[in-house]
Amino acid sequence: MKPIRQTIHFDKKIIDKDAKKVVKTLNKAGYEAYLVGGCIRDLLLGHKPKDFDIATSATPEQVHKIFKRSRLIGRRFRLVHIMFSSRKYIEVATFRSGKVKTAGNGVIVRDNLYGTLKEDVFRRDFSVNALYYDIQNSQVIDYVDGLEALYNSEIRMIGNPVERFKEDPVRMIRAIRFKVKLEATIDPKISRTISNQAYLLANIPAARLYDECIKLFHNENAYEVFEQLLKYGLLNYLFPQTEETSFINKTLLNTSKRIKNDKPVTPVFLFAVFLWGAQNKRFNELNKNKKSRFLIMTQASEDVIRKQTEQVLMPRWLSARVKDIWLMQNQLENCSIKKAKELIGHPRFRMAYDFLVLRSESINPELAERAKYWTKLQQ
Ligand code: ATP
Ligand code: MG
Repeated sequence: MKPIRQTIHFDKKIIDKDAKKVVKTLNKAGYEAYLVGGCIRDLLLGHKPKDFDIATSATPEQVHKIFKRSRLIGRRFRLVHIMFSSRKYIEVATFRSGKVKTAGNGVIVRDNLYGTLKEDVFRRDFSVNALYYDIQNSQVIDYVDGLEALYNSEIRMIGNPVERFKEDPVRMIRAIRFKVKLEATIDPKISRTISNQAYLLANIPAARLYDECIKLFHNENAYEVFEQLLKYGLLNYLFPQTEETSFINKTLLNTSKRIKNDKPVTPVFLFAVFLWGAQNKRFNELNKNKKSRFLIMTQASEDVIRKQTEQVLMPRWLSARVKDIWLMQNQLENCSIKKAKELIGHPRFRMAYDFLVLRSESINPELAERAKYWTKLQQ
């Protein structure tokens, strides 16, 4: 099978200069090296790529030897990070053969058998993510009609969705993320398989799902992503206690707006909002014992967070802050003016206040006056 090679000259400045350097150095050492994946997809659509990944015929150890400032990472997938500053690195992956080691249930346990460019193509997830760019010849290399899918805005699986989702169920979430990001349609075979196999997500390590959740919701289309996850029955495996509310919708639209305007966002807020309904529900259940409000709030928070972390990790710093925001709501609703001035100095005040404002604009309109009070008090 011959690939389609299409000559495309990208704007010289748009390709990361460090990524170019890495490709050149690898070529000079006698290895093949291409830009691959999300960066080519995004460049072709005229978006600014988040990062530039490289695929090469050199093994991780060979890459590591060539670049002094590099480190080997990963177990299931061994990769090399080439450091360009304390915060910037270029990720280099060795071509993999399609042969993966799977457990009895079809899940990939190891994928470190190296192969050729052509083999590497077929272990990638979607055709739009399997385009390679040969910098020297300014050519896109396409084995899987990825260009066509990209121009038609279609998410198509490489291979059979039933098996590919079994190998790695996280691909189901990725399908949704790319569908929304590219405003694409999903191949009906993919849709059907997700609906049937969403439950496979139950077995993914909680830490990996945490990373995926950040990618899902910290972008300009957070609201659409939420809607699609609901529609495909995937939300239930990420946030089993969460039901859609106007508070969540409003928050997600707000998050997207902040990202568009280059303002910072934090996962603390996301988790606090997603779990607020469950926290309230648990509070009401426990409240029947009529102990102190503070103790019941704390207990309810802990119960809800514990249940959430069975599915998606919440690092300690994050759950501690989520709890702070929740516990401060009662104070923000009721406290005296003396206490109010104290609260403004609390390190978590700003987030708790934003939380209250969003509640007042959605599920708790009766708090509108109180929200205004806090707004004024800070002026
Ligand atoms: P973005 O970085 O914009 O979120 P991306 O496509 O670059 O999107 P990455 O997670 O950076 O996504 O992965 C880089 C490439 O690696 C993908 O384009 C895809 O080809 C391949 N890939 C990543 N994750 C998987 C996976 N779970 N299964 C198969 N291939 C994958
Ligand atoms: Mg990427």
